[in-house]
Amino acid sequence: MSEKLKEEVWDLERCTGCGLCVAVCNKGVLEFDESVDRHPTIKEFRRMVGYREVKIDPCKLCKEPGIEVCPRLVDWEPEKLGKIVSLRSKVSGDVIKDLLLCGLELGAIDGVIAVDLDKWNKKPVPKVFSHAEDLKNVPLLVPLFSAGLKLINRVRRKKRVAVVGPPCWAQGLKRLETSTMDVLEPFQRPEYLKISSFCSGVFYPEVLSKIEKELNVPLWSISDVKVNEKESEIVLRTQSGEATISLKELAGFMAKGCARCTDFAGEQADIAIGSIGSEPGSKTAIIRSQLGEELVMAAIKLNYVEQREPKLRAREEIRDFIEAKKKRESAVEVDKAFLALIKGLKKPVVDEEALKKLESLSGLKKRED
Ligand code: SF4
Ligand code: SF4
Repeated sequence: MSEKLKEEVWDLERCTGCGLCVAVCNKGVLEFDESVDRHPTIKEFRRMVGYREVKIDPCKLCKEPGIEVCPRLVDWEPEKLGKIVSLRSKVSGDVIKDLLLCGLELGAIDGVIAVDLDKWNKKPVPKVFSHAEDLKNVPLLVPLFSAGLKLINRVRRKKRVAVVGPPCWAQGLKRLETSTMDVLEPFQRPEYLKISSFCSGVFYPEVLSKIEKELNVPLWSISDVKVNEKESEIVLRTQSGEATISLKELAGFMAKGCARCTDFAGEQADIAIGSIGSEPGSKTAIIRSQLGEELVMAAIKLNYVEQREPKLRAREEIRDFIEAKKKRESAVEVDKAFLALIKGLKKPVVDEEALKKLESLSGLKKRED
């Protein structure tokens, strides 16, 4: 039962928490409450057979689409940097929001999946937005662990949906888009415009209590949680101004799967956006597809965003950052070695079973003789 996800992703603490496997599980076997759990869990199914209650395995006859889409079950090759532009917001103060407003108002997209914050406890709440005005007070990108891709279940009837999240979400969607597994076809109907943030990692929701204590900021008063331009601090916008806390202080709350992640710059996204490579007040956008380019160009033309010059050393700065994150590759290698070891240890058990089978068969044969 989804053994591969359990052994190769969850048990090795490699889950990104994206939620895509839960969305595509058409038997409802996987569930995930990311405010409590670190990865999806498997529901138990039981049925009465006569007077006996037996455990049944609904995955037995299933193609297991969750395995097909999980971004952690493939090795991603590094992608070229793509086209780099620097953008300044002209409408909402947030470049990503301006691109989405442009897309929704033009009818180029008919839905957005992004993360909002709960009004009181400030836990991340992924939502589907269909109208430009709904995005008004939504932070869109918060560095908190959230299973936003669970929502692709709810956009199957839409034509083109922007999905705003960390690079691992774009990786999952890329696997979904390129799969030939028939049961995934309903999820492939909308075209996904993948917008990623530059990402050093996200934090489990308990980080909010730590921040509340350390900074003496009541959670209800926080309106936005962001990583600063140098990717070194978390910045909280509150009613009385801004408060910051260093990422190092919060390291213990970083999602375990992020320690195994080597994608900083949204390499599978249509557009990846972050601060590195641009002057303060502007954002760098790495454009990697025609769809991404069309939206950015339309937003510039229609004055949603203004095009600025990236820093002279923008490409080098981004490359340096990508290289720094690639150092996490050693953790990935350790995982692989560990997995090989586990599989190796299991082998004798499998062989023993095969041996027993063989013995019983030969026993039969003897009796027959
Ligand atoms: S990384 Fe995403 S798809 Fe893979 S097991 Fe975790 S939640 Fe599921
Ligand atoms: S560091 Fe990687 S795994 Fe973690 S949220 Fe960012 S993209 Fe996802």
